[in-house]
Amino acid sequence: MYSTAMSLSAAAAAVASSSRPDAIRPAGLRFCGLRREALGLRSLQTSPQAVAARRSVVAAASAAENGTAGSGGFDYDLVIIGAGVGGHGAALHAVEKGLKTAIIEGDVVGGTCVNRGCVPSKALLAVSGKMRELRDEHHMKSLGLQVPSAGYDRQAVADHANNLASKIRSNLTNSMKALGVDILNGIGTIVGKQKVRYGKVGFPDNEISARNIIIATGSVPFVPKGIEIDGKTVFTSDHALKLESVPDWIAIVGSGYIGLEFSDVYTALGSEVTFVEALDQLMPGFDPEIAKLAQRILINPRKIDYHTGVFASKITPAKDGKPVLIELIDAKTKEHKETLEVDAALIATGRAPFTKGLGLENINVVTQRGFVPVDERMQVSNLYCIGDANGKLMLAHAASAQGISVVEQICGKDNILNHLSIPAACFTHPEISMVGLTEPQAREKADKEGYEVSVVKTSFKANTKALAENEGDGLAKMIYRPDTGEILGVHILGLHAADLIHEASNAIALGTRVQDIKFAVHAHPTLSEVLDELFKAAKVSSGVSSSVSEPVAA
Ligand SMILES: Cc1cc2nc3c(=O)[nH]c(=O)nc-3n(C[C@H](O)[C@H](O)[C@H](O)COP(=O)(O)OP(=O)(O)OC[C@H]3O[C@@H](n4cnc5c(N)ncnc54)[C@H](O)[C@@H]3O)c2cc1C
Repeated sequence: MYSTAMSLSAAAAAVASSSRPDAIRPAGLRFCGLRREALGLRSLQTSPQAVAARRSVVAAASAAENGTAGSGGFDYDLVIIGAGVGGHGAALHAVEKGLKTAIIEGDVVGGTCVNRGCVPSKALLAVSGKMRELRDEHHMKSLGLQVPSAGYDRQAVADHANNLASKIRSNLTNSMKALGVDILNGIGTIVGKQKVRYGKVGFPDNEISARNIIIATGSVPFVPKGIEIDGKTVFTSDHALKLESVPDWIAIVGSGYIGLEFSDVYTALGSEVTFVEALDQLMPGFDPEIAKLAQRILINPRKIDYHTGVFASKITPAKDGKPVLIELIDAKTKEHKETLEVDAALIATGRAPFTKGLGLENINVVTQRGFVPVDERMQVSNLYCIGDANGKLMLAHAASAQGISVVEQICGKDNILNHLSIPAACFTHPEISMVGLTEPQAREKADKEGYEVSVVKTSFKANTKALAENEGDGLAKMIYRPDTGEILGVHILGLHAADLIHEASNAIALGTRVQDIKFAVHAHPTLSEVLDELFKAAKVSSGVSSSVSEPVAA
């Protein structure tokens, strides 16, 4: 889905140097949020004249191709509210399709992912991975390496995360400017069916009209009642990513992927961690078998303890020499259980949609717990909402893919995104990744629909590349239908699991079945052979046709 048929610099050269429509629209090039910034976009900067020329040429070409008729009386074909990765992905695809596009941003370009999410957190995790390795004497010795001692400079680590966010932010901004997206600064409010005002808070002085509107306003940390945030000792991921301190003892409230990633960072940098989790098991969103293994690999050997089945009903920041106080109550009975005294608390209890002040009441859209209720085409009323604000799948690449899907529809091509083919990853050491259904979900679905499911597993311990790295901890597991070969879910815990999942997610997206993919050839020795083994281990009924015309598992 996100394949790059030609390099971006080649694409940029084509954009800058040619006025022929067929030359400036490289076939197969998809501009998808997180892919693009990683490649750096300085080479895409073009003169305003070139941009204007390109825009008119592409608009004309695309209008002919897509049946769209330019802006026809509207200021824009498309206005996007929110320049996070969802808005960015939609904007780039829209200009590729020749739509006259503007994006309104009330804060800084890049939104959560770039400034307060994926990007800085992965910079911190890169450091934590290296620290963990360097400090693991046994691991180092087994490779024949001697490392006297490993230390870190907190501010320099924080700077690494901050610098990466700035770099990616400017790449995102440049990519939009270079391709002719108008970036409008201010808070956007929908004032009518096809009208948006924007400007400073309380002064939305500028009004523009658009044939189509996409809401891409994202989300903010959700802080439960009773928790007082001071940003220093009780904080959310927004503050934690600045790494202003490394507390000796930190409680992490919530053991989803954000909490888990931060536990990886903090323990590598020397903190002790206490998880507070309302549900009865840690990592409740993961496949239970993977969560159990993750507990064995990522929790038990580290300086981490945990309380499950409890709510943090009240959290008071450290003050006047007193520590942070966390009142725990039983999640079911609501009875007081105990009070924790820690140096700091990170609140990682999920995200809330950011849809306040958007003017949804002006177009009769009623939110559900703040989320914009969209259908499978991301449509509500006569506009669209993508990304965290619709709550379908709160991940950066999902936001971007939804944006691309919407632009396809705007251009007259029906496009429904199969959310069950969208992978997710947790960037701990080792990583966890998943796509599709967990085993209990698959069994429940199979019971209802009346078919069998089978499960196969392979271990990283049998993989040469993993063993060469001395990183044999890990498991890959596939849930599939033995009668048809349909892949229902794949879950991986192990070295580079986040990179490995795409073979499975693409198979689900493209409708490739086990009986076909098991013949795909994998280079040796690579980690991808873990999946190769998995596919080969699956047993599909003989005589099943392998030709598939539609994506499965939708
Ligand atoms: C700590 C952390 C780590 C994460 N790690 C990952 C990861 O590794 N991989 C992954 O896929 N996802 C990750 N995520 C999730 C990911 O960041 C979000 O899913 C993604 O940012 C959602 O993109 P979006 O475009 O919907 O919204 P956002 O990125 O939140 O962007 C919304 C933008 O809209 C702007 N805006 C809001 N209202 C208005 C308005 N009225 N007018 C103008 N502008 C407005 C905001 O200022 C913001 O810039 C992480 C999140 C966090 C918090």
